[in-house]
Amino acid sequence: MEQLFDLQKIVELRHELHQNPELSGSEFITAERIANFLVQCNPTELIRGIGGNGIACIYKGNEEGPSVLFRCDMDALPIDEENDFEYKSKEKGVSHKCGHDGHMAIMAGLADLFSKNPPKKGQVILLFQPSEENGYGASRVLNDEKFKKLKIDYVFALHNLPGFKKGSIVLKDETFASASKGIVIKLTGKISHAAEPENGNSPAIPMSNIIKELTFLPNENRFSDFTLVTVVHSRLGEVAFGTSPGYAEIMATLRAYTNDDMQILTERVETIARENTFRYNLKLGMSYTEEYPAIINNNELTEAIRTIAVKNKIEIEELKEPFRWSEDFAHFTQKFPGALFGLGSGENHPQLHNPDYDFPDTIIENGVKIFYEIYSQIVNKP
Ligand SMILES: [Zn+2]
Ligand SMILES: [Zn+2]
Repeated sequence: MEQLFDLQKIVELRHELHQNPELSGSEFITAERIANFLVQCNPTELIRGIGGNGIACIYKGNEEGPSVLFRCDMDALPIDEENDFEYKSKEKGVSHKCGHDGHMAIMAGLADLFSKNPPKKGQVILLFQPSEENGYGASRVLNDEKFKKLKIDYVFALHNLPGFKKGSIVLKDETFASASKGIVIKLTGKISHAAEPENGNSPAIPMSNIIKELTFLPNENRFSDFTLVTVVHSRLGEVAFGTSPGYAEIMATLRAYTNDDMQILTERVETIARENTFRYNLKLGMSYTEEYPAIINNNELTEAIRTIAVKNKIEIEELKEPFRWSEDFAHFTQKFPGALFGLGSGENHPQLHNPDYDFPDTIIENGVKIFYEIYSQIVNKP
């Protein structure tokens, strides 16, 4: 790094983004603000409107070389901010509680850095991805024709992580975060008078069977690693003492450390639902929502990040188990060799998605540094 980036300018940008948060799919002003910033950083090419409000900021070197993509997310959450600082969210009920404002700031710092130290070899793509929180953004970007035209060899992303030492790198080979998906199971029978349930067909018993069987499903001896089924919601009939119900709905979240286990888990959930509806002569409906594959890191690339951390005297925290949550960067690691790593936000920092959370500006520098070093190491690999 010959010339450093302008940290103060980046922190100001972060605060502006924080003050003006936008929900998934509505990142219009955010995209405008980011694009305005990026134009000042003289990219070779700036592509807008990718997968919605996404932006790709590209720097090309003169010599042939690999194309390295860095991805950040842009959306805020429907949470009312409980902080009092001067850059507090101006939007009632919406705020940056996952630190995506900070992730964007890190990428803006990287753009500033590349504008001062243009890459000589290969190319760098700085991707600002919309709609991470609802799980749609990554696949929309990947399916966008403007994006499909880009040459990509490696993909990287980071997420800030409260609970880990400030500025440290959190690493994990193989699975970093779990696969997950929501399932909605609908059981339709027949309503009758509560005095004559025998004249209808209530889904009460099969519903409770399904809830029980789903909850204990991970105990079955057929998975290679951790799986989890959490029943998150259920509903039976109406609030009416005179009516025997004819309808039930169950919602559950499925999680697995591996994509193969997720496949097995899904098949078993469907079998349980089918068996119960068949036995009780009900009509079955099933649908999925918020589907994320597992993030599978490329071990060579995590090893490269380890080397960079040591070289730059940045502390490494090795994860023993993958995270149980999911991140839609998984769609990228399914297609390209890549890695997602954590950047510690501080051991006692408020947790992500909590109303008092705020991205710590002090970790921006390490984020920029690590991304820049990753690029240098990859393009200069003999
Ligand atoms: Zn989040
Ligand atoms: Zn996030």
